[in-house]
Amino acid sequence: MNDNVTLGNKFKGITPKGVSGWIGLIIVIILAFSFGIMTSGGSDSSEVNSQKDSVEESSTPTIWTCSMHPQIKLPKPGKCPICLMDLIPLETGTSEGLDPSQIRISQSAKELAQIQSTPVTRGFAEVEIRLVGKIAIDERKLNYITAWVPGRLDRLYADYTGVNVNKGDHMVYMYSPELLAAQEELLQAIKAVDALGNTKSSILKGTAAQTVIASKEKLRLFGLTNEQIKDIETTGKTSDHLTINAPIGGIVVHKNAKEGMYVKTGTQIYTIADLTELWIYFEAYESDLPWLRYGQTVEFSSPSFPGETFEAVISFIDPVVDSKKRTIKIRANVENKKSLLKPDMFVSGIVKSKLNNNGKVID
Ligand SMILES: [Zn+2]
Repeated sequence: MNDNVTLGNKFKGITPKGVSGWIGLIIVIILAFSFGIMTSGGSDSSEVNSQKDSVEESSTPTIWTCSMHPQIKLPKPGKCPICLMDLIPLETGTSEGLDPSQIRISQSAKELAQIQSTPVTRGFAEVEIRLVGKIAIDERKLNYITAWVPGRLDRLYADYTGVNVNKGDHMVYMYSPELLAAQEELLQAIKAVDALGNTKSSILKGTAAQTVIASKEKLRLFGLTNEQIKDIETTGKTSDHLTINAPIGGIVVHKNAKEGMYVKTGTQIYTIADLTELWIYFEAYESDLPWLRYGQTVEFSSPSFPGETFEAVISFIDPVVDSKKRTIKIRANVENKKSLLKPDMFVSGIVKSKLNNNGKVID
């Protein structure tokens, strides 16, 4: 009973108040909610909008790639099919709108990689061919001093290989009995002409004159100069020794004889090379051949002169391939006025071949 009363009382106490209280609470909640919507309506809608935007942005689908395999481009996150690493979203802005052969890099990446750029201009396409080569003596600038008359080498003036000689320098002083005999012949012939001065026989006179000419020619063939022959004619003095002069200036690259040696006609005594012009033999691969032409310039450098470049001109392309090295010899001419370059130096060169519209070398 008591319980009931209290229960009833409780009910009594709550019910009338409670119903209006619940309603009131509901109203308050509704009001508060609608107020909330009203007051924060703007920001809410903008949030909705921005959400919508981001949905739209991600609707240009995020591409997922592997950090190790950039060629992997998948529309969904997951594992790399190659290395099974987790895929990462491709940074937007790096490869948007680029085809697979293009890349776009950020400013900092450009600076790190030290990438330089230059505007595109119209011009001839160029092919660069790199060649290695070795300097050689220009064969056309080689001269040999040979004995034109048999005899003994009494004195060799240039006594070591590498000595520099000028044109006309004394090179050899040689003893030659045959030379002496030839000079005597000339003097005899001259005497004969003089003796026949008063004779009327023109045949005899003619023969004597012919002998003089023949004797002079013989001396000339023995290597005497016209002045030396004239000297013998005027002084009437003969010499059993002959001096041979350098026919060109240059470097003695070979000394083939020794003092005191007896030599025959044609024996080589010295080899003199003029090194003011040199050859370079470059090696080219067969695949380089389409880009190489006679007359092209080869820029080359030598480890002996760091930072310095020289220019040579292709003068010959070997018609035969070296069967062992599978290369073709390309010969180039180079001027060497300052004597910097030396035979047998190694050089590395570049030929820049200009191409026309059809991809052929412009000669
Ligand atoms: Zn991977």
